[in-house]
Amino acid sequence: MATLFTKIIAREIPAKIIYENDQVCAFLDIHPQAPHHVLIVPKIEIATLNDLTPDNIHYISALFLAAKHIAHDLGVADAGYRVVMNCNKDGGQTVYHLHLHLLAGQELGSFGV
Ligand code: AMP
Repeated sequence: MATLFTKIIAREIPAKIIYENDQVCAFLDIHPQAPHHVLIVPKIEIATLNDLTPDNIHYISALFLAAKHIAHDLGVADAGYRVVMNCNKDGGQTVYHLHLHLLAGQELGSFGV
């Protein structure tokens, strides 16, 4: 069964898509945790960070390159931003389609870790 994010990429579920290329798609998080909160997802279903392999690792580069472009487009590249990837339950993952959170627009503070 297709993941929620695959349905967003396919335009079957509405989302505010702000960036897309042949490998990734980026859209606004429905429950933003910062003034800018963007989710960047690969266009193939990789469930978690634990499912990365030499065959799909290039999607990680694509996610980070997209984050750099989006930060620039949002005008936050110089002020700064945070990228986060949650893995499984204890990591806070709720959607099992690999994704990078891009948070920006305010001073985000420290995790303490
Ligand atoms: P995570 O908890 O790391 O798996 O992140 C999943 C993110 O997806 C959360 O920040 C949710 O707010 C976000 N989310 C869930 N459903 C949607 C949706 N329909 N459109 C956009 N973002 C969503």
